[in-house]
Amino acid sequence: MNNGRSPVLFIGHGSPMNAIKNNEFSTQWKELGRTLPKPDAILCISAHWLTSDTCVTVSRHPRTIHDFGGFPRELSDMHYAVPGEPDLADDIIRTLSELEIKEDLEWGLDHGSWSVLVHMYPDADIPVIQFSLNENLSAQKHFELGKQLAFLRDKNVLILCSGNIIHNLRLLDWSKKDDDEFGYDWANTVNILIKDLIINEKMDDLCNYSKLGLDVRSAIPTPDHFWPLLYALALKQPNETIRFFNDKIVMGSLSMTSLIIQ
Ligand code: ZN
Repeated sequence: MNNGRSPVLFIGHGSPMNAIKNNEFSTQWKELGRTLPKPDAILCISAHWLTSDTCVTVSRHPRTIHDFGGFPRELSDMHYAVPGEPDLADDIIRTLSELEIKEDLEWGLDHGSWSVLVHMYPDADIPVIQFSLNENLSAQKHFELGKQLAFLRDKNVLILCSGNIIHNLRLLDWSKKDDDEFGYDWANTVNILIKDLIINEKMDDLCNYSKLGLDVRSAIPTPDHFWPLLYALALKQPNETIRFFNDKIVMGSLSMTSLIIQ
C-alpha cells in the first residue's frame, strides 16, 4: 500500500458461474478479500453497465441484477444484499461536475460486480456503488475519465474494475468447461501482447487496440469488457506496481487475467 491509498483491481470475471464455484479464480478473489485492507466503500466499474450517459448508482439498497440466462437456479436465486452509498455517489458527481454525471436509481449490481464480490466480501457489509460505461466515449476518453476518479483512493474506496481482456463469446470452445485452462493460439498471443503493453504503460496503444492487428480484433471484438481495464490503468500512480494474477485463458477465447495496482 502506498501512502494509505487504496489498491485498484481489474478483475477478469469470466462466466457468471464463478459466483457459485470454488475454483482457482474465485479462490484468488477470496484471498484478496482476506488480505487487502478493508475498504469503507467499493466503486465497481463493470463491463455489464453500458449507458448513453455517464451514470453512478445512488440507491440505498442496490438490487442484485441477474443479467444472464441459461444458468442454474442456484445462480438466479443469489442475492448480494449490500448497502449503497449515495453520499459517495454525490461526492463523485460534485468532484467531476464538468462531466454532468447522472444519478441512477434503477441499476443495482450486475454480475460483473456481485459475482466477484460474493467471494471477496461474503459478509456483504461494505457499501457498493457502480459507475457506468458511457458507450459514447472513446477508449481515450474512458482513460481520461478514469484518472479523475483517483481522489477516491485517498478516501479508502476500493475501485474494482471488472471485465475480461480477451472476450470473444462467439468463438468459445464449448467442449471445455468454463474454468478449464485453454486458449487458442491467437488468444495466447494477444494476452501476452496486452500484458506487455500494460507493463510498459503503452497507453496510446492500449487505447487504440483495434489498430494492433487482426488477432486483437478477434480477441477484443467489442470494447465493453476491455474498457474497465483502462479505468484501472488510469488510476495507477507513478510509484506503484502492477501484479497480474488469474492469468489464464479459458474456453479458448476468454481470459481471466487480472491485476492489482498498489
Ligand atoms: Zn462479462
